[in-house]
Parts: sequence; structure tokens; C-alpha cells
Amino acid sequence: MDDQGTAGPARQRLHRRRRRLLLLLALVTVLAVAGAVWLQGSGEDGIPIAEGGPATFAPTPTAPTPTAPTPTALPPTPEPTTPPAFDRAQLSITDPASSWVVVNKARPLSPIDWAPADLVPIGNGYQLRAEAAQAMDAMIGAAAAQGLGLSVQSAYRPYEYQVGLFSAQVSRFGEERAEIQVARPGYSEHQTGLAADVGGGGCDIESCFATTAEGQWVAAHAHEFGWLVRYPEGRQDVTGFKYEPWHVRYVGVPLATEMQRAGVPTMEEFFGLPAAPGYPG
Ligand SMILES: [Zn+2]
Repeated sequence: MDDQGTAGPARQRLHRRRRRLLLLLALVTVLAVAGAVWLQGSGEDGIPIAEGGPATFAPTPTAPTPTAPTPTALPPTPEPTTPPAFDRAQLSITDPASSWVVVNKARPLSPIDWAPADLVPIGNGYQLRAEAAQAMDAMIGAAAAQGLGLSVQSAYRPYEYQVGLFSAQVSRFGEERAEIQVARPGYSEHQTGLAADVGGGGCDIESCFATTAEGQWVAAHAHEFGWLVRYPEGRQDVTGFKYEPWHVRYVGVPLATEMQRAGVPTMEEFFGLPAAPGYPG
């Protein structure tokens, strides 16, 4: 009898038991490792897996990573804008029909007896060119809204009228004084239909107008309606006329406003024209 014959089956049983034990150990190890991985909860990219395991894998909201502010395109910085230069040549200063026409003792109207074609009545028998009439209405209305009573004392004067007025002044005061007070025919702004003499505050066509509330309002606000106090104080050497706080000349709001802004009180200076203190010759 061979020992193996009796020992053989016993050893085989032992082997089987060991194998089962090893299998069991391996199974336990596999389960332990799987459990550990599960508990550690780590996904592919190191993203923690949500409770419930891989079956419910979903990217969980992650805390927003602080990001550097994205450089956004800034709105283009506007170029420093300089207002377009006032075009001093946009209207004629020679054409008698132009609202910018400069008339003085060196610049008579041409033709000398020129008359406007668009005169309209403005009350009290006075007339102005249509645009100036509208601007006078607006100015008188604005003054009235401030409780000030402005009135027109003279407006358009035709060439023939100026002929009579001038000769009357000459015979009364002599030519030298007449020429300071009244323009020669053809040299008067009143002939353009764009000039007027205004009064108020108990002072009409006198230097005292400058001291009235009406006169002071005109000095401060006339430009807003397109009017200039055409013969300002201290400019007789330029305009040829002493200070006339009552004589206003319509040039339109753009020019009147620009002259005010620039601080240039006379048309002669504004347009770079020679001073006209007296008649040539
Ligand atoms: Zn006048």
C-alpha cells in the first residue's frame, strides 16, 4: 500500500481548503479596495463624486475659481472736442441784404439808396426786415416777462428820410456835430432794416437808457435774440459813434452770441475791419 494512497485525498482536501481560503482572501481584498476607492470618492479628474456613488456621477457645482478680471474692451475715449471754429465768412458783410452787412462811416450801403424787400410793420408805424421784426418781438416779449417795458422808438429809415434828417441836424447844429449824432444818408444802419432804437424806463434814445432796468437788461440779453448794442461805450474810435445804449442791430443769434462769447463788442473788430472813426476824405 502506498502512503500516498491514504495521504493523497487528505492533502487534496487541504489544498482545496487553502484555495478556498485564498479565494476568500482575494475576494475580501478586492471588496476592501473597491470600498476604499468608493469612500475616497475620487473621480477621473479628481472631482469628488457625489454621495450615492459613481452611478449618480454628475459634475457638482464647484466653488467659482477666483478669476482675474477679464480685460474687457474699454469704450473708446472720446477725443477732446474743440468746438468747430466759428466761420466768420459764412455770410457776406458787404451785401446790403446780408444780416451781417457792416455799415459804418467807411462802408456805405451799395447802392447808396438800397432798400430792403421784406419789410414788415412792427407797430407804431415802424418797420423792420421780417427776421429782425420777429427777433424784436421775441426780445420785447422776454423783457415784458421780466416786468420790463421796452418799446421801439425808431426802426427802418429809408434813404430819403435820412437825407431829410441829416440836413435838419446840419442846419441846427452844424455839420461837425450832425455827423456825430446822425449818419449820412447811405451810411446809416437804419437803412438796412436791421437796426432799431429802443427805449424804456422813462428814457428814450438818451444815454440815461443805460442806467434803466430796461437798458441794463438789453445790454445783458440782447445777444440771446440776435441783437447787438452796436455802438458800445468806449468804441467811438472804432464805430464812429458815441455810446448809444439804445441802438440795437440785428445780426442773428449765432453771430451775436459768438461776439459775446469772444468778448468782441464791435463788428469792425470781430471781422478785422479798419476802424471807421469818421467819413473818409
Ligand atoms: Zn439808431
